[in-house]
Amino acid sequence: MSVKSHKELTRIMRSELCNRCGTCVALSGGKIVFADREKKYRPILIGELEDAEANRILNACAGKKFSFPEHRKHFYPESAHFHPYTGPYENIYIGNSTDPEIRVNAGSGGILSAVLVYLLEKKMIDGAIVTRMSKEKPWLTEPFIAKTREEILEAAQSKYIITSVNEILAESSEFEGNLAYVGLPGQVQSIRKLQKSGDPSVANIKYIFGPFYGNTLYFSSVRSFIRSYGEKDYRKIRKLWFRHGEWPGNMRVEMEDGKIFELKKFHANYLIPFHILKNSLFCTDLANEFTDLSGGDAWSPKYEERGKGFSIIIPRTRVGQEILDNMKRDGRLEMTSCSEEDAISMHSHGYDLKKRGSFIRIRFRRMFLRQVPDYGYTLSGFPFSRYLMELMISSLFLLLGSWPARRTVELFKPEFIGKIFEKSRTTWKKSTHSIKRKDLG
Ligand SMILES: Cc1cc2nc3c(=O)[nH]c(=O)nc-3n(C[C@H](O)[C@H](O)[C@H](O)COP(=O)(O)OP(=O)(O)OC[C@H]3O[C@@H](n4cnc5c(N)ncnc54)[C@H](O)[C@@H]3O)c2cc1C
Repeated sequence: MSVKSHKELTRIMRSELCNRCGTCVALSGGKIVFADREKKYRPILIGELEDAEANRILNACAGKKFSFPEHRKHFYPESAHFHPYTGPYENIYIGNSTDPEIRVNAGSGGILSAVLVYLLEKKMIDGAIVTRMSKEKPWLTEPFIAKTREEILEAAQSKYIITSVNEILAESSEFEGNLAYVGLPGQVQSIRKLQKSGDPSVANIKYIFGPFYGNTLYFSSVRSFIRSYGEKDYRKIRKLWFRHGEWPGNMRVEMEDGKIFELKKFHANYLIPFHILKNSLFCTDLANEFTDLSGGDAWSPKYEERGKGFSIIIPRTRVGQEILDNMKRDGRLEMTSCSEEDAISMHSHGYDLKKRGSFIRIRFRRMFLRQVPDYGYTLSGFPFSRYLMELMISSLFLLLGSWPARRTVELFKPEFIGKIFEKSRTTWKKSTHSIKRKDLG
């Protein structure tokens, strides 16, 4: 391998630019592996890559470089609408699957799983690349190709620890038949880079879907969660959910000895500042802008009061729109239109984090001469107060992500910390409401 490609690749893999998508592992033919999934979950080089292999991997890596404008132009040349926050789109809806089994098993309204089941039943796909909790190590995640409704349901719900979906490309490229793919923004961006360069590894991926993405956590979050209940050995986890039960759901851990630890999702969010994957803080894509169709939680008191599960749904391509139209016609989902303004307002906190916070954090990082991602666009001109707010947020993440802070929080019951976290988050959200909303639209 040329010295330059080798240096570039290892620099990305070792830095916070790596989003752990798994593409490098899949394309390396066993020369790159994830060796420490329960720790930092970093890809490491264990063999000698040929020049062509290294260049192919570098071209597919979205961690360092992914041009939003270039890929938008290529994949969405005729999109009906565009906003720098939402990305290109045909329409925006609030909706849910009409299938109660799908809806109750899903993260939000069950739209993503319902779409996959529909495509399978209509024989428009032969399988779907999705992510479930590992069979062998139920505390970790694993991508696989689902070929039945049951398998799609097995993979439903959000996993808030690191996933490396694109590892599956080594296997899925050999799959005979058409595939749908579900991934997080960084994972999708890598698939789009491969598609744009005509790489054979993604030739059978016909549809791309994905959830909204605020952040993801290291596995240490799960370890810390069970330690707070006095449980030291994560290898005794029998089952793990992040959105168990009715929307918005609970984090739930079942241990081999029958013990169950369960905490409301909003309270389990206390783990975020202690265990966030730093790469999440440099990602500028909340709404999974490069999918055919993406879905998030319909966070609004109007829907939250009703429970059951509601999604915000954004079809971005004609294909994505057609699938939704056909499903609605066949009574497979309910959906009503949502304006761009309401959609942005519903996720103003998330857009602020991604479309303002990330660009400010990237700017801070550049000041310290650290590597920064190149997205081919920047947003700027935020008020000075937003920079001050970011200084506070970033300092807090730095402090709470430290080893002593992580250990201290484990001394308290998660129910207690979760309540404090939810209260302080609401107060903080209210007090910064005007800062974050200013010019947000
Ligand atoms: C890490 C993460 C962060 C998120 N952050 C936000 C947020 O800030 N705001 C918001 O509104 N919504 C967020 N979501 C999206 C939300 O939790 C739901 O996934 C989304 O609303 C779709 O719901 P659904 O019921 O249609 O999906 P489901 O029918 O439950 O299907 C979910 C699909 O996504 C796949 N999937 C789940 N987790 C992962 C993962 N980690 N990596 C790859 N694929 C996965 C599953 O395999 C499944 O196919 C996040 C999701 C994840 C996974």
